[in-house]
Amino acid sequence: MARRIVDVLLPLALDQPYSYAAGDHAVAPGDLVTVPLGTRACTGVVWGDNPNPDPRLDNRIKAIADKLDVPPLRDEMRKLVDWVSHYTLAPRGMVLRMALRMGDGLGPERERLGVRLAGAPPQRMTAARARVLRALADGLVRGKGEAAKEAGVSPGVIDGLIDEGTLATVVLPPEPIARPPDADFAPPDLSPEQAAAAATLRDEVREKTFNVFLLDGVTGSGKTEVYFEGVAEAIRGGLQVLILMPEIALTAQSLDRFSARFGVRPAEWHSEITPRRRARTWQGVAEGDVQVVAGARSALFLPFADLGLIIVDEEHDPAYKQEDGVRYHARDMAVVRARIGALPIVLASATPSVETEVNARKGRYRRLSLPQRFGGQALPHVEAIDLSREGPPRGRWIAPRLAGAVKDAIERKQQALLFLNRRGYAPLTLCRACGYRFACPQCDAWLVDHRFKRQLVCHHCGFSTPHPPACPNCEAVDSFAACGPGVERLEEEVGTLFPEARVLVMSSDLLTSVEKLREELTEIQEGRVDIIIGTQLVAKGHHFPRLNLVGIVDADLGLANGDPRAAERTFQLLSQVAGRAGREEGQGYGLIQTHQPEHPVMRALIAGDREAFYASEIDIRERLHYPPFGRLASLIVSGSDRAAVETHARKLIAIAPRDERVRVLGPAEAPVSLLRGRHRFRLLIKSPRAFDLSGWMRDWLALAPKTTGDLKREIDIDPTSF
Ligand code: ADP
Ligand code: ZN
Repeated sequence: MARRIVDVLLPLALDQPYSYAAGDHAVAPGDLVTVPLGTRACTGVVWGDNPNPDPRLDNRIKAIADKLDVPPLRDEMRKLVDWVSHYTLAPRGMVLRMALRMGDGLGPERERLGVRLAGAPPQRMTAARARVLRALADGLVRGKGEAAKEAGVSPGVIDGLIDEGTLATVVLPPEPIARPPDADFAPPDLSPEQAAAAATLRDEVREKTFNVFLLDGVTGSGKTEVYFEGVAEAIRGGLQVLILMPEIALTAQSLDRFSARFGVRPAEWHSEITPRRRARTWQGVAEGDVQVVAGARSALFLPFADLGLIIVDEEHDPAYKQEDGVRYHARDMAVVRARIGALPIVLASATPSVETEVNARKGRYRRLSLPQRFGGQALPHVEAIDLSREGPPRGRWIAPRLAGAVKDAIERKQQALLFLNRRGYAPLTLCRACGYRFACPQCDAWLVDHRFKRQLVCHHCGFSTPHPPACPNCEAVDSFAACGPGVERLEEEVGTLFPEARVLVMSSDLLTSVEKLREELTEIQEGRVDIIIGTQLVAKGHHFPRLNLVGIVDADLGLANGDPRAAERTFQLLSQVAGRAGREEGQGYGLIQTHQPEHPVMRALIAGDREAFYASEIDIRERLHYPPFGRLASLIVSGSDRAAVETHARKLIAIAPRDERVRVLGPAEAPVSLLRGRHRFRLLIKSPRAFDLSGWMRDWLALAPKTTGDLKREIDIDPTSF
């Protein structure tokens, strides 16, 4: 009989699987196997049979070393890997790697021992031993530690009784990674609108067909309560559920809401879980023991055994786009996953992405609307503070009207949030004597003054240096001027304006861990803070019952950078921030400091007229053939030699396959033209919507010359930031 050759995809930067002899291993597609690769062993996945291996390879084909005792990677996952790789142009092996990111410690559990009464009387009776016998008199099994604790004795007492045959040890089954959620633990009383949306979702989950829903509800309308009803229906049907959230929103608060509804917390999946927990979760998901996972974008690549519903919470959030390695958008790929698995998916947002909004308007997605806040709370009342007419004095950032509102809020024992999306003390430091500006030596960027850390920091590459005592250029002393505000500087101003107030600054660089964030959120919820000063970290989904005033210190900040999504981002971010106000009691207020009160974003925010914003934004996108009305890709060439980078970029344009539907623009210096010492040039590729731009790019790159030296190409399909 001819020997059987199979293709094994390895989690490496390879697009094609390698061939191996199956030998005695009865392997099937999806099985995890270890194979020899050079001098090492590598774990990969059987992708299929190879009936006609290249005869020249015949005597070089090695055999599979071992088949792993874990559930195979299902058909759906292999299709997802193929799809994501085709779409993003990332090598298939690199996409597979995300699906195999299962941590260490797979395989059999370390044994947990329990004890029970065995009968033989102890040779010697002591008070402690008597307590143990009483505690275990019911004959039931307990963990060793648990038994010692119950009897109030040291573990040594238990060991002694085991040695004498009074107690017997029992191997306990492994503790489940997540206890099963109870669909009927605490069902809510839904408002009529909520009930209607929930009923639709329940039907859809029962039907189990591919369908995309936009759960579109203002902040505080109870989107979570509604999608939980879909989750409950999946649980009742024995199906698994994936709830995707931006990593930063995976807080104790959001997990507690789940357990308030279902009696237990969901399994978590994000960057901070331990390797062992990761391994057990991965396996539990693959075996179908874990029913609900709440996770960051990478949870999309978990090997669900029987997925019945996907939720993408805050679907518009830019954090869903992975910007390094495999550049994928988790929301878009979640829709692909749902289609492959023929299951419903819910995209939830108060400010949907323009893509999703257009899909809903065109009827490709089905809209479920929650137009009101639950309990009839009014939406915040938003006003602009025109900085050119009533701005603060020079060197200050809080206008008198905003300061007055903060004062009122504190007097009413409510909280105020001052939002400024800028970390550090000041974005630019210059020498008043000679005009010298501190810039990053490796990037095209100014160094940001971070006073808490006493450092000047580059926000692009992380370079940092202590603040020098004198100007490096003219040696003047005490000549530095900080230009513009960051949250740290705002804190200084708040300190002078409200010396008695308890102030908390929330900014990602001041947070050492997710745990610290959780603690800070609790402090706010329990009312131990009067004024919160924060970056976008505070915008995401948090519920602060006492917060009634939101002041946006510089609303124009995100509009100035030439990114085609700047208006959308600003609108979403500021709506989210303002939506933190007045969620529980009293009227909420938003005060927006801006130089452009007539900008469509500001006008929509002030009038509370979301429609106006989408109408103008959709119109602009359509006219410019920007996504979702056309496709866009970017290709960045980078390297330490600027001329070589530019030459390579021009060469790429010259060899691009001709197709009148595709336009290649550039090369132009990338928005960050120097990053970590590498010069960057960008090509922008545009095509109509109904065109396989990924396929065209692949054909193009197949013709491209090999990169030499340290030249690198980075491809981004549907780039979301510029
Ligand atoms: P959204 O996600 O739309 O901003 P949430 O789901 O966070 O809104 O709900 C806002 C608040 O209203 C939460 O405190 C939530 O517990 C409460 N809420 C919403 N719907 C209900 C309901 N049907 N019963 C009880 N509380 C509800
Ligand atoms: Zn830098």
